[in-house]
Amino acid sequence: MANRHKLKIAIIGTGISGLSVANMLKERYEVTLFEQKDKIGGLIKCDTIDSVLFHRVGGHVFNSRNKGVFDWFWSHFDKENEFYQVKRNAKIFIYNKIIGYPIENYLYNFDKDIIKRVIHELILTGSDKKLSPFEYPNFEEFLKNNFGETLYNLYFNPYNRKIWGTELKSIPMPWLEGKLPMPNLEEIILSNIVHEEEDKMVHSTFYYPKKNGSQFLVDKLSEGLNIRLNRKISNILKDGEKYTIDGETGFDKIIYTGDVRNLPDYADNLLTSKMDLNALKSLKSNGTSNILCETDSNSLSWLYIPEDFTKAHRIIYTGNFSPANNGTRSRKTCVAEFSGKVEYDDMIKELNKLPGNLTPISYNYEPNSYVIHDFQTKELINEAKAILKDEGIHLLGRFAEWEYYNMDKCIESAMKISAEI
Ligand SMILES: Cc1cc2nc3c(=O)[nH]c(=O)nc-3n(C[C@H](O)[C@H](O)[C@H](O)COP(=O)(O)OP(=O)(O)OC[C@H]3O[C@@H](n4cnc5c(N)ncnc54)[C@H](O)[C@@H]3O)c2cc1C
Repeated sequence: MANRHKLKIAIIGTGISGLSVANMLKERYEVTLFEQKDKIGGLIKCDTIDSVLFHRVGGHVFNSRNKGVFDWFWSHFDKENEFYQVKRNAKIFIYNKIIGYPIENYLYNFDKDIIKRVIHELILTGSDKKLSPFEYPNFEEFLKNNFGETLYNLYFNPYNRKIWGTELKSIPMPWLEGKLPMPNLEEIILSNIVHEEEDKMVHSTFYYPKKNGSQFLVDKLSEGLNIRLNRKISNILKDGEKYTIDGETGFDKIIYTGDVRNLPDYADNLLTSKMDLNALKSLKSNGTSNILCETDSNSLSWLYIPEDFTKAHRIIYTGNFSPANNGTRSRKTCVAEFSGKVEYDDMIKELNKLPGNLTPISYNYEPNSYVIHDFQTKELINEAKAILKDEGIHLLGRFAEWEYYNMDKCIESAMKISAEI
């Protein structure tokens, strides 16, 4: 079929969501992507600073439990030649010690008094008739009822409060689907008795590009696509069956991967009078501040930092994911992560409190990184999705669907939309 007979689809945004769905649709449709920034990638964008790779947000690694997503992914990338399979080696920095993760498997690192309390509570919670995770009224109740008060106060509450900046009782359960920690009593007992050596433990793994980190993913997925950079879309008009996007006419369908809170301003004629736009516009999100550093050598992938002595909540050892990430530096590199906006000078002060003799290289603040739900959010988003779908506009991705998605979930959602279209 010649291109002029194909339906025209506009995809707004070139993060992993927009680029994945574009690849799924490009054979069947004429696809155009619009990106407001001068570089593709959204949250998974990386820069190279003085030869060192900087994940501007997080330190993105790939894995998926969904076979369809996994197969799709490996049909676009060469697992053997382009990726490392890396061992997950997460640890927790607590009471000035680095201990194993998850915390409940390493109780022997704590005082006898704490261990006694945790065991007592785990036995009590284990003997309760179990509710399914979504039967708990909120995240706090779920954690207390599954791990007990002591572990909740020691680790789960401070760590999660640092990330979300909100009371855990205000966090509804369905939002965290697929992300919930679950205690496994047998594993807890075994691990606490046997104290296995690190290299004998069964680890899960993840995949990481040999070069350019997650920027490699978007660069490869963008090959051969029609992408317009520096095009912030702010006006979507429907004229009969066709759409005009910022003056560009003739689109049959739109896939929007930007922030759903902005849509009422871009396409108000489609949503006005059909739903509560103020509720949509006032959804809450959180930002992330990152500082790229040199660090003393170790074999960690992540270090979680629950306590309040520092504002940092995690160090991601991106220099251990691929040696190329360290560029020409003789020391390894990592990213220290903070929730919300933390000024550069304040971050520098925090570095002294963290392990590894961290020295700064570069930093970034991303105002929008975590979506936050309240008890009405799911319903609100489903309503917006249904109204817009009838109009030929599909919402896709972390901020358009307002979901706590990882990259694999974005790809899974892109597959659903591609099948629907
Ligand atoms: C700290 C952190 C760590 C993470 N770690 C991992 C990990 O290790 N593994 C993993 O799988 N996932 C991870 N994630 C999740 C992952 O980052 C997201 O799921 C994914 O990047 C979201 O992609 P997206 O395309 O939906 O959104 P985005 O990446 O936000 O892309 C949206 C794009 O749309 C553009 N845009 C928005 N509005 C407009 C407009 N009006 N006009 C034109 N363009 C527009 C934006 O500029 C952006 O490029 C992490 C997230 C965070 C915050």
